[in-house]
Amino acid sequence: MRKPIIAGNWKMYKSFEEAADFVDEVTSLIPSNEAVDAVICAPAIYLATLVEIADETDLAIGAQNMHYETEGAFTGEVSPTQLASIGVDYVVLGHSERREYFAETDEAINKKVRAALNVDIVPIICCGETDAEREAGQTEAKVEAQITAALQGFSAEEVQHMVIAYEPIWAIGTGKTATADDANAVCGAIRQVVANLFDDATAQAIRIQYGGSVKPENIEELLSKEHIDGALVGGASLQVESYVKLVEAG
Ligand code: PGA
Repeated sequence: MRKPIIAGNWKMYKSFEEAADFVDEVTSLIPSNEAVDAVICAPAIYLATLVEIADETDLAIGAQNMHYETEGAFTGEVSPTQLASIGVDYVVLGHSERREYFAETDEAINKKVRAALNVDIVPIICCGETDAEREAGQTEAKVEAQITAALQGFSAEEVQHMVIAYEPIWAIGTGKTATADDANAVCGAIRQVVANLFDDATAQAIRIQYGGSVKPENIEELLSKEHIDGALVGGASLQVESYVKLVEAG
């Protein structure tokens, strides 16, 4: 059995005070992490404080991006080593907004996945198709290419501890959710890609989230599907009440 993982992706929202209050409140409301992994991926500037507030609780803290180098002359960037040094547990990699607005390539994402593992941070690797690609029947080919590139050079043992997030771009922040059956079909196809690249045991072990307009009203149906092991949630992770409901559904 794969443990569900519900990760909030706050993107570039919340003041410092709002972020700290949210985490403080949520830590006492969520179920035990023996049943579900609850994660908040916050803006980098808040991570150290949030890790401290969430210390010894059932909430884990994640970053939304990082550089792949350990250190160096990369003005404005944050390194995996720096994230690890403050106790960050997860990092979202290759989100479609980073691919689109910050020109992140599959190659860079592959390097970031390696860098995350080097410092024991769990990567949440994002993939997903555009509306046009979906209309053209290219969904599976697109996610296969993205996942194959991201997982290049890893062993089966390493891949088992990663998380993949399938996020159709047309469903992000639009209120349009993929139907639970469609989302499950693509997550199943991703699992098959992992089986082909590695083996069945690895494919059965890796956790695959769905993301794109997930909210308390639709999470249960999504999570009831065989291949959907959790959710990566933007908008609905910003309020304590809806975030707690999402974690409770996990
Ligand atoms: P959304 O965002 O839940 O607001 O659609 C999901 C994401 O971008 O991870």
